[in-house]
Amino acid sequence: MQLAEGIQAISNSLPPRDAARADQASGFIGRAAFIERLRDAMGAARRAGDRIAVFVVDLDRFRLVNERWGHLAGDRVLKEVALRLRRTLRGTDVLTRLGGDQFAALTPGVPGGEGAAAVARKVLDAMRAPFAIGADTFSTTASVGIALFPDHGADEHGLIRAADRALADAKRRGRDGVRLYSSALGDVRGHALDLEHDLRLGLARSELELRFQPVHDLGSGRVDSVETLVRWRHPLLGLLPPDRFIPMAEETGLVRSLGERVLEGACAQLALWRAEGLPLAGVSVNLSARDFERPDFVEFVTDTLARHALPPDALEIEVTEHSLFEDPDAAARAVALGEYGVKLSIDDFGTKYASLAYLQRLPVNTIKVDRSFVRDIGYSSSSDSIVAAVIALARGMGLRLIAEGVEEIDQVRSLRRLGCHVMQGFLFSRPLAADDAYRYLARRAG
Ligand code: C2E
Ligand code: MG
Ligand code: MG
Repeated sequence: MQLAEGIQAISNSLPPRDAARADQASGFIGRAAFIERLRDAMGAARRAGDRIAVFVVDLDRFRLVNERWGHLAGDRVLKEVALRLRRTLRGTDVLTRLGGDQFAALTPGVPGGEGAAAVARKVLDAMRAPFAIGADTFSTTASVGIALFPDHGADEHGLIRAADRALADAKRRGRDGVRLYSSALGDVRGHALDLEHDLRLGLARSELELRFQPVHDLGSGRVDSVETLVRWRHPLLGLLPPDRFIPMAEETGLVRSLGERVLEGACAQLALWRAEGLPLAGVSVNLSARDFERPDFVEFVTDTLARHALPPDALEIEVTEHSLFEDPDAAARAVALGEYGVKLSIDDFGTKYASLAYLQRLPVNTIKVDRSFVRDIGYSSSSDSIVAAVIALARGMGLRLIAEGVEEIDQVRSLRRLGCHVMQGFLFSRPLAADDAYRYLARRAG
C-alpha cells in the first residue's frame, strides 16, 4: 500500500478511490477527485507556506474537429491533448478534464505569477504542433487562465472560479493567450466553462438549491409569505447565485426546466411547513416570462398545486418588469392563472421604462419596488418621489406593495412614513435554507 502511494505521488497514476471516476477520453482523474486533490494540496500548501497554481486550459476552435471529422476524431485529439499536457507538466501535477475540450491542472510549489505564466506558455507551445487526423492535420492554439493559491481564492471552488474568469478574459482578448486572475476581473460575468452543458447535467443531478426570504408585514406584525430564490451548487464553481446562470438559462431555454424544479420545490416545501403547523399564507417563486411560453403552463402550475393540496392563492408568481410578456399567449396564460386564483407579482418595479398599461391588462396582485430605490430612500429626493408615486399607484389600484432590499432601520422609517408596510431585506433576514427558514418562521409564529 505504501509503495503504491509512493508511486502515485510520483507519477500521479490513479489511486483506487479515483479510478472509478476517471475520465474516458483523457485517462485523467474525474472532476470530483480533482477537487479533492486540490483541497488536500491547499491544506499542504497552507502548512508549508507554499503557493499552488490552478490552470484552466481550453483548446481554441476544437468544435471544428468534431464538425469536420466527427466525434471519434475529436476524442482522438483530446487524447493527444491529454498526452501533451502530461508531458509538459511535472509528474506531481494533477490533471483533469473539466468537460468538452477544457482541462484543468494543479501544480503545487509555484513561486508566483511569473513562474505560473511560464508554465502556461509551455502548455501553449505544446498545443501548437499539428494534430494528425488520419491523412489530415489540424492546427490550433489554446488559451489558459491561471489562479494562484492563496492569492486568488481561499477555497477550491473560489480558486477554480478565479481561473475560469481568467480564461474567459483570455478568450475575450483573442486566442492563444495566457491570463493570470486579477481582482479587476472580479466583476466579469463571463464564464469560459460550459455552463450550459453543466446546467443540463445539474438539473438532472438535482444541483439546484432553494433559499427562502421572509416577507414582513409591519402592519400586522406577521411574516405572511416567503420568496423562493434559487442557487446552483456547481460541482467545480461552488454555490452560484442566480444572476450567474439565469441569463444563460433564459437564452438556452433551460430556464423552463429550472422553473419547473423551483416551482415544484417551493410547493413541496410550503406543503410540508403547513403540515408542520406553520401559519404561512404562501410562497412566491420567480419565473421567467419564458416559462409562460410553454403551451401547458397553466395545467403545469395547477397540477403542481393540486399534487401538494395547496390552494391557488398560496402561490404567487413573480415576473420581473423587464421580462414581461411580449408573447400574447404568455400574457393570456397569466390571465388564466389569475382567474384560477394564483397571484402575480411584478418584480423589480420601476427599473424599466415599461408601459403601465400591463397593470390593467394583467391580473397583478403585488408590485415590488426595486432595491435601487429603497437603497436611496431618505438620501435622494427623486427616489423618495418615485417610491411615493409607486405607493400611490399601488393604493389607487388596490395592489399589495413590497419594498425589497431593506437593509437599514432608517429605510423602514422612511417607507412607513410614505405608507409602505410590507418589506423584505437583509435587515430582517437573508434568504435562508429551508431548516433555518422553518426556525425563523416558527419563532415568529410562537
Ligand atoms: P429578485 O427576485 O428581485 O430577488 C431579490 C434579490 O435581492 C435576491 O438576490 C436577494 O437575495 C437579494 N436581496 C434581498 N434582500 C436584500 C438586501 O437587503 N440587500 C441586498 N443587497 N440584496 C437583497 P438573488 O437571490 O441573488 O436573486 C437575484 C435575482 O435572480 C432575483 O431577483 C430574481 O430575479 C432572480 N431569481 C432568483 N431565483 C430565481 C428563480 O428561481 N427563477 C428565475 N427565473 N429567476 C430567479
Ligand atoms: Mg423576486
Ligand atoms: Mg426584485
